[in-house]
Amino acid sequence: QKREDVRNIAIIAHVDHGKTTLVDELLKQSGVFRSNQEVAERVMDSGDIERERGITILSKNTAITYKDTKINIIDTPGHADFGGEVERVLKMVNGVVLVVDAFEGAMPQTKFVLKKALELELPVIVCINKIDRPEARPEEVVDEVLELFIDLDANEEQLDCPFIYASAKEGIASYSADEPGKDMVPLFDTILDYIPAPEGDPDAGTQVLISTIDYNEYVGRIGIGKIDNGSVKVNQDVVIVNHHDDSKSQRVRITKLYEFDGLQKVEVPEATIGSIVAISGISDIHIGDTICSPENPVAIPFQKISEPTIAMHFMVNDSPLAGQEGKYVTSRHLRDRLFSELNSDVSLRVEETDNMDSFKVSGRGELHLSVLIENMRREGYEFAVSKAEVLYHTDERGKKLEPMERAFIDVPDEFSGSVIEKLSNRKGELQGMGSIGGGYTRLEFLIPSRGLIGYRGEFMTDTKGNGIINTTFEEYGPYKGDMNYRKQGSLIAFESGETVAYGLFNAQDRGTLFVGPGEKVYSGMVIGQNGKAEDIELNVCKTKHLTNTRSSSADDALKLVPPKKLSLEEALEFIDTDELLEITPTSLRIRKKILD
Ligand code: GDP
Repeated sequence: QKREDVRNIAIIAHVDHGKTTLVDELLKQSGVFRSNQEVAERVMDSGDIERERGITILSKNTAITYKDTKINIIDTPGHADFGGEVERVLKMVNGVVLVVDAFEGAMPQTKFVLKKALELELPVIVCINKIDRPEARPEEVVDEVLELFIDLDANEEQLDCPFIYASAKEGIASYSADEPGKDMVPLFDTILDYIPAPEGDPDAGTQVLISTIDYNEYVGRIGIGKIDNGSVKVNQDVVIVNHHDDSKSQRVRITKLYEFDGLQKVEVPEATIGSIVAISGISDIHIGDTICSPENPVAIPFQKISEPTIAMHFMVNDSPLAGQEGKYVTSRHLRDRLFSELNSDVSLRVEETDNMDSFKVSGRGELHLSVLIENMRREGYEFAVSKAEVLYHTDERGKKLEPMERAFIDVPDEFSGSVIEKLSNRKGELQGMGSIGGGYTRLEFLIPSRGLIGYRGEFMTDTKGNGIINTTFEEYGPYKGDMNYRKQGSLIAFESGETVAYGLFNAQDRGTLFVGPGEKVYSGMVIGQNGKAEDIELNVCKTKHLTNTRSSSADDALKLVPPKKLSLEEALEFIDTDELLEITPTSLRIRKKILD
């Protein structure tokens, strides 16, 4: 049976192409802001980090009502590192709206999500936005989008998709690039006509696949998902099952049920197939769980969340100065914070280690982990992190496999040579190259994830900040062997009372090291080849001021006193060798006591 009064859609857009403005406008025109309220809060994409990094991290829900039909709009995460998220979100919808800037055209970052949508055979409405821009080139952009569809193996129906030309800013949309519209009605109507209504069996046992988790201090955990079959009622008893482990919970009671309306959740007594609902009262609900009626506990299958490819250690910052800049964090705090992150991020893995103060955190790519680090620091957590390391697999025959990524790079023409050289030395394979106009070249590489670790900083320097690099996970492939570049990284250690913190930090990485007045600081470059450290240039100095490498770069911290340069041999004399735990081109670990 179909729910003709409901449409569930996802919006896919590159950052700044106008998704927020478009959704605001749809809300406004559908009468959500009935009392002439201003749009007080922007609907989607509210995270600072999301804007800064140009990606959407978590999906959010909005709903509008048009011609007695509820349209649930779900934001999609924009980056492949969040692949697990994408699939779950797309499983809630019956179609997508792809928003593309009429000047910039389709951007590689949206390719991953679009590919997933096409694979799931979802119909696509293409909304060419910002047609009011004087440089707008809608016809060409339409061709580019169609080329991209062909590239991504779209089926015939998908290639025959409707195009809507809009200026979200002016609140208008039309069916043709040449005639300006007068409101958003063409887009509303296309959504109703072109996107199928959700289907299910309203009389079957309840099945709701939980796609997102929300938290509210009054009601606790809230599971959000679409009702695939049956109905959900307040005070209904249900059981929780999961497709990937055969576990089945005790009966639990749903205490509150909500649907989305505008920017809010509103309580409803009951909901049926096709509705996207939020459910509270189940404290032990997780992403990927299916809420079922006890008579028919059948989990909805969903693709297993892709395995993490990269790991980092998150460590308690044990400097006596810790706590001056942020919250002093104990291993308990760090542990609780990290484990709570697992509730909302299924692509993440957190493991305890032999060291109580250190946790191994694994995720999908360096970006995924750096977003978490940045979020935690903004919340005031102080902690140290190790360099990222890739997670290897082995195939059935015992061959070593490593994660491979696809990198899309836009650089001013004059820098393309040096980028190609560097990435080739890092076992990157150039798979595409072409001019994109405006003096820019676009490069596409297939490269081992390990070749990209720490590369972003170098890339920014090499392209004088004018390059853009985007990477998406491709697959686990055969180990590509040693890299043939001189690996370098700056190293910082500092002694503070009894403790010497250790770690390797690139200036750009801004590791959290707090350096107090009069403390000795060791910094330098570890230089090596083919995985072996050959030399270390160590600078030793005393600081005059309290310096926080979180806000200033590690190198800035060291300008205070002229450093002394040492070779590896000299450095080893400085460092009591018993205390030297390990030197590799990517890390140096020392403990305690460095002689004067
Ligand atoms: P998002 O990152 O995709 O959510 O993009 P926003 O909705 O925040 O829009 C990014 C920028 O583009 C903002 O400065 C908007 O004012 C502007 N913008 C959005 N829609 C239009 C449009 O139709 N025409 C023009 N000229 N600018 C627009």
